[in-house]
Amino acid sequence: MPIKAILTDIEGTTSAVSFVFDVLFPYAAKHLPDFVRQHAAHADVAEQLDAVRRDSNEPNADVERVIEIVLGWIAEDRKATPLKALQGMVWEQGYQAGELKGHVYPDAVEALKRWYQDGFKLFVYSSGSIQAQKLIFGCSEAGDLSPLFSGYFDTTSGPKREAKSYERITQAIDLDASQILFLSDIVEELDAARTAGMATCGLAREGGELAGHVTVDSFARIDPSTL
Ligand SMILES: [Mg+2]
Repeated sequence: MPIKAILTDIEGTTSAVSFVFDVLFPYAAKHLPDFVRQHAAHADVAEQLDAVRRDSNEPNADVERVIEIVLGWIAEDRKATPLKALQGMVWEQGYQAGELKGHVYPDAVEALKRWYQDGFKLFVYSSGSIQAQKLIFGCSEAGDLSPLFSGYFDTTSGPKREAKSYERITQAIDLDASQILFLSDIVEELDAARTAGMATCGLAREGGELAGHVTVDSFARIDPSTL
């Protein structure tokens, strides 16, 4: 069946991996302490601080101690839910202040716009939270790209290297799996998507090949109507 929807990964696919690791994470680590101090009394922040106390078994930790715990989690790259939530809040403030702009490769911007105009439905599947995904595209260097997208999926749909996750996403998109083209820079993700029946295309921006999949170095070389 012809492709009707395109599901894309972010890191290493639409956007530079270095944006996440060299810009977003350091920004969160730098601004999180003051953000928490300033907003500790706000309900949504207080809720996450309590979650940190619970997860770390330190029910009486004061705000400074909670900050210390969270910075420790960042250092060890722990994917704790309250940490993700707090990072998301810090990023949101940074994007709104114009201090952060989401990186999206120009070839990806151009192709996503063209595919949208050609009637393809566009979706995102990334291990970053849906909130973080919306910010990268909504406050990107190329402006607000969020109107291009019909939906966002994160790891609440399951891990990215498991076929079951792609089956769940297929159900949510409500098309046949063979009508969905999945784009990623990680071969295990492409394998999982193919097992679920999706079409695949690998992105190797530095060149090379993602074994077993059509591989390109730019969105400019992807033609969904021929895949
Ligand atoms: Mg990736």
